[in-house]
Amino acid sequence: MVNFSVSEAPLGLTLSHVHHSYDLPSGSRLVLEDVSLDVAPGEFVALIGPSGCGKSTLLRLVAGLEAPDAGTLLADGVPIAGPDPSRIIMFQDPTLYPWRTVRGNIALGLNIRKEKDAEAIDAAIRLVGLEEFAAAWPHQLSGGMAQRVALARALINHPRLLILDEPLGKLDSLTRLAMQTELYRLWSSQGFTALMVTHDVEEALLLATRVIIFSPRPAQIIADIRIDGAQPRHRDDPSLQKLRADILLQLEAAMV
Ligand code: ADP
Ligand code: MG
Repeated sequence: MVNFSVSEAPLGLTLSHVHHSYDLPSGSRLVLEDVSLDVAPGEFVALIGPSGCGKSTLLRLVAGLEAPDAGTLLADGVPIAGPDPSRIIMFQDPTLYPWRTVRGNIALGLNIRKEKDAEAIDAAIRLVGLEEFAAAWPHQLSGGMAQRVALARALINHPRLLILDEPLGKLDSLTRLAMQTELYRLWSSQGFTALMVTHDVEEALLLATRVIIFSPRPAQIIADIRIDGAQPRHRDDPSLQKLRADILLQLEAAMV
């Protein structure tokens, strides 16, 4: 297991009575209603819920990209007051700059001060197995490789919390399976806390230590399920099949 200095240890989260709404011409739209959630350092928490319920909003609040209307969000006991390199958010679209090579794109993840840290860039490239593609251009990459570049860029500063918004949602199904294994390997070897929105129940059960289910908008937590058992897990593990059926039933029940 990796030893961390305090500044690289996985982050814990405490969300208490978080409310959030958006102002629309037609009035205020409540998106999050009284969401309270504790995430222990090192957990891998998957968030599942109906489309439009408020999952991405919750991730943006944790990333510090928005402030809640009410309630508190703490990272290791400290109020989240804005973005911070210890909490990195990664989206479905890898958003690589087409005029920069793989190496150049990964270097963008470094703090400005360290932009010339060649060793850190090499380490990040190795971490995601892209050594042979360091000089390639984004248009030469498959979807899975582009997502690996985005992962390397996100991990280069050793974030303590990785926030993932449907990171594998656009990949074809075979690439998706490979990237699930990759994500698991990175989480188990790099020791960050992970908070991931996915609409794929099987993906959640395969990777997460805990699955949170949200109601339709305004998002409220309707189930909080701890996934026991050794990892890495296998897709055909019978206990996962049963949990999958339970979760789908709960989601269906929430939709009516
Ligand atoms: P999810 O990720 O669960 O699909 P989001 O958090 O993206 O849901 O959005 C929740 C609701 O808030 C949706 O109805 C969406 O249209 C609305 N919404 C999201 N962002 C904004 C915004 N910046 N302004 C107004 N409405 C928004
Ligand atoms: Mg979303």
